[in-house]
Amino acid sequence: MTEPFVIRGADVAADVYRELSVQLEAFTARGVRPGLAVILVGDDPASKAYVASKDRKCRELGFYSLKLELPASTQLPELLAEIEKLNRDPAIHGILVQMPLPRHLDEQTVIRAIDPRKDVDGLHPMNLGKLVMEDPTGFAPCTPSGCQRMLQFAGVATAGARVVVIGRSLLVGKSIALLLVSRGTHADATVTIAHSRTRELPALCREADILIAAIGKPNFVTADFVRDGAVVIDVGINRVPDPARPGHSKLIGDVAYEEVAPRCKAITPVPGGVGVMTIAMLMANTAKACGMTLAAL
Ligand code: NAP
Repeated sequence: MTEPFVIRGADVAADVYRELSVQLEAFTARGVRPGLAVILVGDDPASKAYVASKDRKCRELGFYSLKLELPASTQLPELLAEIEKLNRDPAIHGILVQMPLPRHLDEQTVIRAIDPRKDVDGLHPMNLGKLVMEDPTGFAPCTPSGCQRMLQFAGVATAGARVVVIGRSLLVGKSIALLLVSRGTHADATVTIAHSRTRELPALCREADILIAAIGKPNFVTADFVRDGAVVIDVGINRVPDPARPGHSKLIGDVAYEEVAPRCKAITPVPGGVGVMTIAMLMANTAKACGMTLAAL
């Protein structure tokens, strides 16, 4: 096999940001700036880092960014009141509540409180319904649409391709499957969703032209899951001890990259792969929400 094409998130995201800068010029000409509000409840360090990078990216792009940090003790009525304020704020086009929330706050209640027209994370039932119905006025969840965009960037033909997605979460696996099975460009695939109850998983995965791993188990997908010439998208982000630096950790994916890559036509790395796309698609959804507000005026 020749070397695989490594689909780097930064290269794909750069394309998305180029498109956004053109959109932004059109918004600026109409005196509007896309605005994103991110709410963080509590002080989980990983969540803090995610929120900071979303805020940074907004500012880099020239979007309006509002970061709302609430204490871990925040009660549901207070959080819902903040969301309601943002729902009514015309400067805010997108609202994201950073997950996971402290245990006493019900995530579904919180997601449902966001105006679906501002739900740029794409997790409100209205937007998930639109995803199922292939209604383009909805917002697709960011990580799945990032994966689709990576396939597009790498020139991977999806029409008629056999896709196996390992993982059935709404956030990732199920939504990626829905995007790729939809009618249209960069979709039209034949999709199988696998999960922890799937039998003979390696054999099933070997049938895939495109294999997508969204499991959350380090190095789970080994070479025997992958057929020669397949395209592999690794969504997994797992923090493990770094043997090269005792006492430190590192991020790895769900795919055993070193042994899988030589079999592939194309593959995404971890870090530097899908993770980078999640923020890019969040920005794209925010711009889309802004555009839809303008169109409705
Ligand atoms: P999740 O909700 O825990 O779902 C994991 C899925 O993997 C479940 O459907 C589970 O099956 C399946 N699974 C677990 N063990 C399995 C096994 N032995 N064989 C087959 N399937 C198995 O996780 P998630 O939110 O989808 O996230 C998945 C991974 O993606 C995590 O590493 C997460 O950190 C990462 N992630 C990355 C990004 C990004 O920006 N790159 C964004 C979101 C998530 P059951 O349903 O049967 O339990």
